[in-house]
Amino acid sequence: MTALVIAEHDNASLKASTLPTLTAAAQCGGEVHLLIAGHQCGAVAAAAAALAGVSRVLVAEAPHFADGLAENIAAQVLAIAGSYTHILAPASAYGKNILPRVAALLDVAQISEITRVAGPDTFERPIYAGNAIATVRSIDPVKLITVRTTAFEAAGPGGAAAIERIAPVGDAGTSAFVARASARSDRPELTAARVVVSGGRGLGSGENFSILEPLADKLGAAMGASRAAVDAGFVPNDWQVGQTGKIVAPQLYIAVGLSGAIQHLAGMKDSKTIVAINKDPDAPIFSVADYGIVGDLFEIVPQLTRELG
Ligand SMILES: Cc1cc2nc3c(=O)[nH]c(=O)nc-3n(C[C@H](O)[C@H](O)[C@H](O)COP(=O)(O)OP(=O)(O)OC[C@H]3O[C@@H](n4cnc5c(N)ncnc54)[C@H](O)[C@@H]3O)c2cc1C
Repeated sequence: MTALVIAEHDNASLKASTLPTLTAAAQCGGEVHLLIAGHQCGAVAAAAAALAGVSRVLVAEAPHFADGLAENIAAQVLAIAGSYTHILAPASAYGKNILPRVAALLDVAQISEITRVAGPDTFERPIYAGNAIATVRSIDPVKLITVRTTAFEAAGPGGAAAIERIAPVGDAGTSAFVARASARSDRPELTAARVVVSGGRGLGSGENFSILEPLADKLGAAMGASRAAVDAGFVPNDWQVGQTGKIVAPQLYIAVGLSGAIQHLAGMKDSKTIVAINKDPDAPIFSVADYGIVGDLFEIVPQLTRELG
């Protein structure tokens, strides 16, 4: 039994999402190999080889892997899939772009967003926006799995894996990289942040979101938002937390002026400590909050920020 993890990286460093995926792979019970498909990605391979639990790092380097085009990476995975009982990727935009293609080409069912490995063929995954947990058993010869990264500990250092270069597949030629438009921010990445300050429709406008910034600055927090705030154009859509946004599980989640709709809770209720600020004492967010402050956010947030001073 051997598991293959598809590494998410940018040719310079491994993305944090790869680390919990390795932990899930190790829990499947066999050896763990890591595939790095990229271009001039030697530093990534060296970092990966030092991770605990990885026995082999397979490096496929070619210019057409430089930008992570899913068609090419899926073809590379397919070329080596025959050696594996499990193939895993993080349930990030990157993993979700690649793995369904591999599943289709192998004609097996993908098991999406697992939160627990119950056995080599049995996995738990949330359904109904996280309101129920399904236990699924796969009878496919190879299990294709995306991993909800907030549900597993990150793999740590302590390994000394062999790095092996493998033959890259050719360019599929069915897609081309055009440009990447990414928002620049000095704040931590939302899904990896230790603290998240999230705002909802209660903020009333995009300008009013600036009231959250000093609080986020003091806490070194990432900023998030509800879908209502995103749909209203208050903040960019990559801030959205929830069922159709990002899944986060920080040490501290501060929910400001958001009601706590079930679809929002699906993305943050596994946070270690939840603080809610809302003027409605019956807002559903208080049902998951460890600490609740009932009142006007425009008074409470500046006060809280001062107290943290
Ligand atoms: C298929 C589907 C997927 C969805 N996916 C997501 C998702 O991924 N993420 C998501 O967030 N939502 C999602 N939604 C939308 C979700 O159902 C809610 O509509 C949304 O989360 C509500 O956002 P909100 O809490 O900001 O707004 P509201 O529900 O309008 O809540 C605003 C809150 O602000 C409080 N408030 C107002 N003024 C103040 C003030 N001055 N001080 C303090 N409190 C104040 C109010 O009491 C209220 O509780 C989805 C919906 C569907 C149908």
